[in-house]
Amino acid sequence: MAPLVLRTVAETAAWAESLRRSGRRLALVPTMGYLHEGHLSLMREGRRRADVVAASIFVNPTQFGPNEDLSRYPRDLEGDLARCASAGVEAVFTPVPAEVYPPGFQTYVDVMQVSQGLCGARRPGHFKGVATVVTKLLCLFKPHVALFGEKDYQQLQVIRALERDLNLGVDIVGMPTVREPDGLAMSSRNAYLSPEERHRALALSRGLSAARELCRNGTRESSALVGAVRRELEAVGLREDYVELVDATSLTPLSAVIPGQAARMLVAAFAGNTRLIDNQPIGD
Ligand code: AMP
Repeated sequence: MAPLVLRTVAETAAWAESLRRSGRRLALVPTMGYLHEGHLSLMREGRRRADVVAASIFVNPTQFGPNEDLSRYPRDLEGDLARCASAGVEAVFTPVPAEVYPPGFQTYVDVMQVSQGLCGARRPGHFKGVATVVTKLLCLFKPHVALFGEKDYQQLQVIRALERDLNLGVDIVGMPTVREPDGLAMSSRNAYLSPEERHRALALSRGLSAARELCRNGTRESSALVGAVRRELEAVGLREDYVELVDATSLTPLSAVIPGQAARMLVAAFAGNTRLIDNQPIGD
């Protein structure tokens, strides 16, 4: 069945309130649209964990830098609504920006530590925009559970922190990255890639796999593991934004993988003008 389309904060609040009053559990999946299997995996898991799933489709202007792709971010609302229906989503909140940021808006959420490095260092203000819009969505829907992808690993840690620090009482669920058959992490931004860039983009997942394999065979030092990722990027001429080995929760840099401490390798690189990110757990 086609999902109910919610355009305003007022109708969304009323819809969510009546749902809660009926005693049903609500799952929320925030997105920027142009949906793919990665998004749909979150929605399907939402169905397993709750009675009703809602999604938001909102290209959030406050998380884009001045020279980023806000104006050309891909959009396909009609197709997205059909995809939401196929994944069992009952309601979709798709507001205009002025509904989310009306005149006089002045309150932002800034997660201080976990947003500092990695993408936070390269995209100033990005996670402040993400944290603000996600907080607003969680306060508006008051879902029991909200689902996010590990594809955006730092974002997931930012959201875990704000949920905990602001006592929002929402179960934040992180879901594994859904990949194309050849290993490329699915992303709405993959639509920007030329066939030749699409082919070179595989170096991100290939580099992460190479680093994991190296670690499995006993190499623990960050410099060697990071080097394995860099080699793959360089081999196809992708411009590195960063390659870092970090603690999987705090995201602080590690000089080596230490047994018993969960570690994660994160990479960001440009294929032409398109910025791609990927990450993998590494070590035990
Ligand atoms: P976006 O529309 O890019 O803002 O993503 C919305 C949600 O879908 C975020 O929680 C993302 O982490 C998640 N997501 C995006 N791509 C994937 C993927 N390939 N696998 C799993 N989750 C994803």
